[in-house]
Amino acid sequence: MHVCVNILDIKRYWEFLLKFTFRRGIHPAGNKNITQALPLTDFPTPSVVSIPLSQHIGAPAVSVVAVGDAVKVGTLIGKAGGFVSANVYSSVSGKVTDIVTTRTAIGARVPHVVIENDGLYEESFLPPLVSPDASAIKARVADAGIVGMGGATFPTHVKLSPKTPVDVLIINAAECEPYITCDYRLCLEKTAEIFKGVEYMMTALGVSEAYIGIEDNKPEAIKALSDLADERIKVVPLVTKYPQGAEKQLIYSITGRVVPEGVLPSDVGAVVDNVHTAFAIYEAVELGKPSFMRAMTVSGKACTRPGNYWVRNGVGYKDVADYCGETQEAKKVISGGPMMGFAQTDLAPSTGKGTSSLLFLTEEEVASGDKPISACINCASCASHCPMRLMPMFIERAVDAEDAALAKKYHALSCLECGCCAYVCPARRPLVTAMRRAKKLIKEKGV
Ligand code: SF4
Ligand code: SF4
Repeated sequence: MHVCVNILDIKRYWEFLLKFTFRRGIHPAGNKNITQALPLTDFPTPSVVSIPLSQHIGAPAVSVVAVGDAVKVGTLIGKAGGFVSANVYSSVSGKVTDIVTTRTAIGARVPHVVIENDGLYEESFLPPLVSPDASAIKARVADAGIVGMGGATFPTHVKLSPKTPVDVLIINAAECEPYITCDYRLCLEKTAEIFKGVEYMMTALGVSEAYIGIEDNKPEAIKALSDLADERIKVVPLVTKYPQGAEKQLIYSITGRVVPEGVLPSDVGAVVDNVHTAFAIYEAVELGKPSFMRAMTVSGKACTRPGNYWVRNGVGYKDVADYCGETQEAKKVISGGPMMGFAQTDLAPSTGKGTSSLLFLTEEEVASGDKPISACINCASCASHCPMRLMPMFIERAVDAEDAALAKKYHALSCLECGCCAYVCPARRPLVTAMRRAKKLIKEKGV
């Protein structure tokens, strides 16, 4: 066993030296074969949609419609509640029938605008822009309600307005989470549009250099992107390893720059955004299309119609489950990827700008199964795989002892909540939960 660990360490070291990657991390089963060959198709929108007014990080949007109002596809229904916030648009045409507060996929209770879909899909978009300058692009990105579509949902106009000058834009096409293939399909099917979006982002930021980072398990997409690459926009194949798409890891893998704790990527001269966001910016600028629809993967062995779909915001998870044929074997439903996504207790939430996938997993696919949690055996496996070089076992002990100062000393605030530690822990310790508890404790105690 000891010899095996050393061989793996040597392999990881050489991998780091020879290719674009970061240190540590894990290699979970990709399971992308279920959907990677399936082109994006339109998901049948149900007769009622329920659109959350908070689909982003920051202040919720404020409703600007009332029950009884008629709306079109692209009608503003929620106005951004501050600078770090995002507009919300109707995804269908029809009539507002209710505004209710219900649970989102991440467990927050937020107002939802319920719209009866008339099935006509009449559109009311923003005017297209021709040769926009930096400020016009940023204003359009804000108007269109575009957020980070890799799942982070940070408002993009804020990212495009860094407080310090940046010199490089990094586009995240890594898609390192298992199962998810919607960004892969986007790279294959909307390649030219992505490059146009990247050009608009470069203009907005005033940079002359951009890199599209993509894991090397997607050779067809790498070829499609590389065919359009040039001296300004380069494609970088990255080692297939989780969490390759995490912001700090991606910056390090591509530029070698380290983003210290408490420091923004823009402070080291880099802005990172998702490849789907670049596509959304192209649509907003050239077509005047606000953000109300996205590419989404539905997968897992407990659904009979997996695929990559264009899904409008506000489609109920129950509608997705019905169309995609959720079977009785579904042991767990996850919104997002299996590593960083959110397990669902029911199918009440609806899709939003950050819903990259919905997974219906069988017992066999669920890593933890029903095996019990046992005591830590001090194997240090969690620490040796942590991409942030933390010591999760010590942080867990600190938080169990309610020692906020100690948890902070062990850099709990640097945790990405990537799940690598919990994935490798032979004792099945709930380490990500411990990291979240540690952050909360540090905040509460103000240490
Ligand atoms: S401690 Fe945080 S960053 Fe490190 S592996 Fe665990 S979840 Fe990821
Ligand atoms: S991997 Fe699990 S058992 Fe091993 S040191 Fe970390 S918490 Fe303890």
